[in-house]
Amino acid sequence: MSFVTRFAPSPTGYLHLGHALSALTAFDAARAAGGRFLLRIEDIDRGRARPEFEATIYEDLAWLGIEWETPVRRQSEHMGEYTRVLDGLIERGLLYRDFRTRREIADAIASAPHGVNEDVFRGEALAEAEEAERLAAGEPFAWRLSLKKARAALGPAYFSLVFEGETGVVRADPERHGDVVLARKDFPTSYHLASVWDDALQGVTHVIRGDDLREAAHLHVLLQRLLDLPRPIYRHHGLVLGEDGKRLAKRATGVTLRALRERGKTPADVRAMIRASAHQG
Ligand code: GLU
Repeated sequence: MSFVTRFAPSPTGYLHLGHALSALTAFDAARAAGGRFLLRIEDIDRGRARPEFEATIYEDLAWLGIEWETPVRRQSEHMGEYTRVLDGLIERGLLYRDFRTRREIADAIASAPHGVNEDVFRGEALAEAEEAERLAAGEPFAWRLSLKKARAALGPAYFSLVFEGETGVVRADPERHGDVVLARKDFPTSYHLASVWDDALQGVTHVIRGDDLREAAHLHVLLQRLLDLPRPIYRHHGLVLGEDGKRLAKRATGVTLRALRERGKTPADVRAMIRASAHQG
């Protein structure tokens, strides 16, 4: 069986030990399987992605001894593709516009009966007349995936979505995410859409990433089914915890690979630090 995996960082900060764990886990797995390792730059957020962070990703990974195939796919160069994918879903009536502000969403959540958060929020398309009026007024909106429409489109298949995780075959439960935002106005894609599309396009057979993205698989398999894309195998690794026992934040400056390198640490030290602090998820 072929084995293709990837590391897909967002250049919105310097890589830290948690990223090193993801990159090394995927790279080592590809090596062990005699497979391929890809690097993908997830730079769709043009407000936060910076060239210096991207340049440092290449430096850090090379320093760790990781080798990747070129050319590297940079998502910012393929925005037109994501727009086409999104438009396809819109044409099929699977998405609806959500004009609510963050404030309105927060208020709706606060008045919801039991522990709903933004991620499990559900809405409905507005009546045509109101929508037309708000569009004409130039109000910003987000495109949400309607689970109701997805259920109608897939029929019984919706309830038998599965994926292979580390514990075997897992029933996918997209309901836990609610109607997720797949794009914002003037921003043609979300992480979910671009990542699922690219994994398929690049022939990724094994998605290897941290436990913080474990839940995302439940949505990603639904998107794969709706877009008629192949489904990769999922492997999630534990997170590297900081000294406070919490997961490392993007701005955990003390443990950036760049800072460690400047302090004279070696790639072997990094591997040892990861082993010592990796929390088994
Ligand atoms: N770009 C994502 C991140 O930086 C990772 C995406 C993935 O591995 O699917 O967290």
